Amino acid sequence: MVSETNSVHIFFFPFVGGGHQIPMIDTARAFASHGAKSTIITTLSNSLLFHNSISRDHQHSNLPITILTFPENPQISDTDMSAAPTTDTSALHQPLRRLLLELRPDAIVVDMFHRWAADVIDELRIPRIVFNGTGCFSRCVRVNLQRYAPHENVGSDSEPFVVPDLPDPIELTRSRLPSFARNPSRDFDRMRKSEETSFGTVINSFYDLEPAYADYLRNVLKKKSWLVGPVSLCNTKTEDKTERGKNPTIDERSCLNWLNSKEPNSVLYISFGSLARLPQEQLKEIAYALEACDYSFIWVIGKIFKSSKHKETEEEETNWFLPDGFEQRMKESNKGLIIRGWAPQLLILEHSSIGGFMTHCGWNSTLEGVSSGVPMMTWPLSAEQFSNEKLISRVLRVGVEVGSEEWASWDEERRVLVGREKVEEAVKKMMGKSEEREEMRRRIREIAVKARRAVEEGGTSYGDIDALIKELQAPRIT
Ligand code: UDP
Repeated sequence: MVSETNSVHIFFFPFVGGGHQIPMIDTARAFASHGAKSTIITTLSNSLLFHNSISRDHQHSNLPITILTFPENPQISDTDMSAAPTTDTSALHQPLRRLLLELRPDAIVVDMFHRWAADVIDELRIPRIVFNGTGCFSRCVRVNLQRYAPHENVGSDSEPFVVPDLPDPIELTRSRLPSFARNPSRDFDRMRKSEETSFGTVINSFYDLEPAYADYLRNVLKKKSWLVGPVSLCNTKTEDKTERGKNPTIDERSCLNWLNSKEPNSVLYISFGSLARLPQEQLKEIAYALEACDYSFIWVIGKIFKSSKHKETEEEETNWFLPDGFEQRMKESNKGLIIRGWAPQLLILEHSSIGGFMTHCGWNSTLEGVSSGVPMMTWPLSAEQFSNEKLISRVLRVGVEVGSEEWASWDEERRVLVGREKVEEAVKKMMGKSEEREEMRRRIREIAVKARRAVEEGGTSYGDIDALIKELQAPRIT
């Protein structure tokens, strides 16, 4: 740990919303635990989502971490965690400028979705470190897709191609590529350029998870980066795990009691993250598959996508469109626990009864699955999730692909559903007894051990945090 004398002051400026805000808060906490004075700058309404854990760090653990709130702004106050990549936060331009001028931090870690922020930070000559919420593998895939455009040389959206020049032969199809990889928008180019001109990138990953891609990123693509994760592992207290991101819609005790009533490795955990909306017909397919299999499950149902022909109303949002009597049957047989809204994901994943994780391959969920040693059933939907799927299933070989083929934006209605037969087959493969499953489990447990080692003293992520702090300290010492 870096000594507290001469400690650096780092601003952390998270994006307003689940998948990006959660790991940035954990990152700030990790840096504070290494002695850096960490200030999280955010709106008041967002700060309510994590102020308890920050107070605990500050008051009970005496860590140098605080939250500084901007004046409330109706344009960007978002408490339901649904802020999307497209949310425009530029109303924070002047407030940010004022804070930077007033407090002159040694550096700022800024989420790449604050697309406008680079100009003001660079103008004030404050080292700008980008946080983009993804891992090394998907970043290498993205850069090489852009460099070589292999998707332009195939005859159809479903014809596979190999992403050139990567350490492994990674196959994708055009239908699995994000729209921003097919046709980069102005916003996307802006984010890419601001990353290129930054001081570097902090990455929520660890070296032993994707060593070939961490090396490729640093040595071949020449990206200055610090691998500081898995940052979720800074949540060691049960309260922090329970309240992470949002207050759960199930109380911790009943969730744990339910899990305690199950055999080790016997429960499938299903969640599609904080943003994804599945069509109601897709929920039905999942429900039929779960009913046809003999395995217990926890299913977190977030928002659904009602047909675009209907305007979504509050009432429709809370209507859940499961098959008739499904929920009742699951409850009576104690086979399934359905959580509507927000689940205490870390707490669940770390429970010994969890034997598989059906995930949309959001990067945080992927890392949380890995760190908990739980094999995954991959069901990518949006963002860079189709790349993450390949890392899980082909590079690490700790997951089974469910068969999702179509990338769609989080707010777009998807046309292609995954049928119940495919879901059932994948669930049986993941949860049934087989040599293949045992191998997967063994592999992911080994990686989970390495994840914990990475953040401990002497570990690679621990070392990268210290290295970045030292680098920021250097100009003060000379
Ligand atoms: N999460 C949670 N409970 C939920 C849904 C999500 O705690 O019910 C957390 C999850 O643990 C993860 C984050 O929200 O840390 C979701 O991030 P991810 O990158 O997996 O997906 P995104 O929400 O960005 O699509």
